[in-house]
Amino acid sequence: MTADSELRAEIVRVGKLMHQFELVDGASGNISARLDSNRLLATPSGLAKGFLSPEQLIVVDMEGELIPPAPPGLKPTSELLMHLEAYKQRPDVNGVVHAHPITAVALSIVGIPLTDCVIPESVMLFGAIPTTPYANPSSAENQRAISELVKTHDAIVLAYHGSLTVGPTVWEAYLRLESLEHTAKIIAQARVLGTVKPLPPEQVAKIISTRQQWGFARATDAEEFCKYCGVCHASGQHRDEEALIRAVAEEVKNKLQVSNFQSQTSNSQT
Ligand SMILES: [Zn+2]
Repeated sequence: MTADSELRAEIVRVGKLMHQFELVDGASGNISARLDSNRLLATPSGLAKGFLSPEQLIVVDMEGELIPPAPPGLKPTSELLMHLEAYKQRPDVNGVVHAHPITAVALSIVGIPLTDCVIPESVMLFGAIPTTPYANPSSAENQRAISELVKTHDAIVLAYHGSLTVGPTVWEAYLRLESLEHTAKIIAQARVLGTVKPLPPEQVAKIISTRQQWGFARATDAEEFCKYCGVCHASGQHRDEEALIRAVAEEVKNKLQVSNFQSQTSNSQT
């Protein structure tokens, strides 16, 4: 098998699984993978992702233009803009998957975010899973909505619409889609059963430490873990507070020593 044919087989496999697990419907969703620095292999517009054959995939350049030869009648998806943006922002990304996972989208419709720290493995793998503001599917607005977020996140919810997951391979981008939807399902189910109690900050701090050791940490972690999960140590704020407390304690100690000395002096004079 050539690299091209292996990648075609992998995309077809991912499409089947997306259909099997109801992560897409009809002809929705799209999958792409880097062939080399100038070309992507991608699912074409209008075909059901669960029933693709390898030769139905198309090759496009980094502007989204079709590179011939292409199967007759097949053209790039209008949602390719999102994929192109992800590859542009993330040189480490070699696979992109866009899907319509039911629970993640349903939560976005009722305004429930996936940013709270409630599932250890999700926190470890993703940190916070952000949700974009609503943007018209297939539009440049949608492309702009993920542009900043994709720099520091491997899984993003597109409000009212779907998900975007990226990875070093198309397979890993798919696994991240599974994990995103699994996280959404647990949060939705927990809300049905009762009040969601987020993990205590001291437990989240341990998960963050492992996340750092495993090389999953991102530039936005400190800000997001502080904002969503109450763990602000990584921002340096905690260290600054400790230094301030030590300085104040030192000052108080010095003043006490001075006043003791003064009172001893005045006692000896009386
Ligand atoms: Zn879509």
